[in-house]
Amino acid sequence: MKKIAVLTSGGDAPGMNTAIRAVVRRGIHKGLDVFGVVNGYKGLIEGDFTPMSLGSVGDIIHRGGTILKTSRCEEFKDTIVQQQAIQILRENEIEGLIVIGGDGSFRGARKLTELGFPTVGIPGSIDNDIAGTDYSIGFDTAVNTAVQAIDKIRDTAFSHERTYVIEVMGRGAGDIALWAGVCGGAESIIIPEADYDLEDVIDRIKQGHQRGKRHSIIVVAEGVGKGLQMGKEIQEKTGFETKVTILGHIQRGGSPSAYDRMMSSQMGALAVDLLMEGKKGVMVGVKSGQLTFTTFVEVEKGRHTIDLSIYELARSLSI
Ligand code: ATP
Repeated sequence: MKKIAVLTSGGDAPGMNTAIRAVVRRGIHKGLDVFGVVNGYKGLIEGDFTPMSLGSVGDIIHRGGTILKTSRCEEFKDTIVQQQAIQILRENEIEGLIVIGGDGSFRGARKLTELGFPTVGIPGSIDNDIAGTDYSIGFDTAVNTAVQAIDKIRDTAFSHERTYVIEVMGRGAGDIALWAGVCGGAESIIIPEADYDLEDVIDRIKQGHQRGKRHSIIVVAEGVGKGLQMGKEIQEKTGFETKVTILGHIQRGGSPSAYDRMMSSQMGALAVDLLMEGKKGVMVGVKSGQLTFTTFVEVEKGRHTIDLSIYELARSLSI
């Protein structure tokens, strides 16, 4: 193998740049030519390739987003378009592709491998919602961003004696809500993986009030939704002033945490090594603290699970 390419696809996540850097530097270290594909699968089908040098990934280790840009490309779901992409890759003498993205991006990568083109995936998703790995690039930074925001809201919640409902990202997975809720000391955490009863949330606020507590923080995952409605109902039923804050896209950006940088560096290097060993149709990941890899087929069949013992812990600590 002499030439490989790397792209980022789907939602961006802090640490993607660190992973691009690791792929490029490990590739060059192993004697490969490495190309960047601009704009994910959209750039792939347009042949938008850029040669990557050691210097081209200098000074990006600490930057959020992705220097290669990312996109959502509906056309790429078409087999003919996938075949065209392979032809373009071959015309450019590229023999392997590393895809940094989420499970949708890996469905595209699996198709390329099934059509005869080797691909390896690196999980990038602030939601941490990808099966086959305990951790996805960007999750740690997003949790830290959410915790910092909760800390700031706590200051004003205390001063004004208010209840705050804070909606964090996580459409299918409550990981950000769970971690940010525990680390931010939330009274209640509402996630898609666990049934919730708003009456129970309200009771907990009232119980806290009875023992002199004058402010409360409720963290709700985006996937559960209804943050605004919940805030309204809590205010009506408790009589306590209740505000709603939706953290939104600030959770996507920012400088990657040290943990995200470490994992992105390790996963980027492993992805190159696997491709060079002839592995294809696999995603690198971390399980029980060990770097590992899983086939895209298993990733698609699997389901990301959340550690519900942390949820129970949160309930026992926020009484
Ligand atoms: P995120 O978790 O941020 O949503 P993702 O990788 O899951 O990331 P998607 O929008 O689902 O994001 O997918 C990204 C791109 O992957 C799509 O725009 C499309 O180009 C490609 N893709 C998704 N599903 C398929 C599929 N079934 N076949 C081929 N390509 C696909």
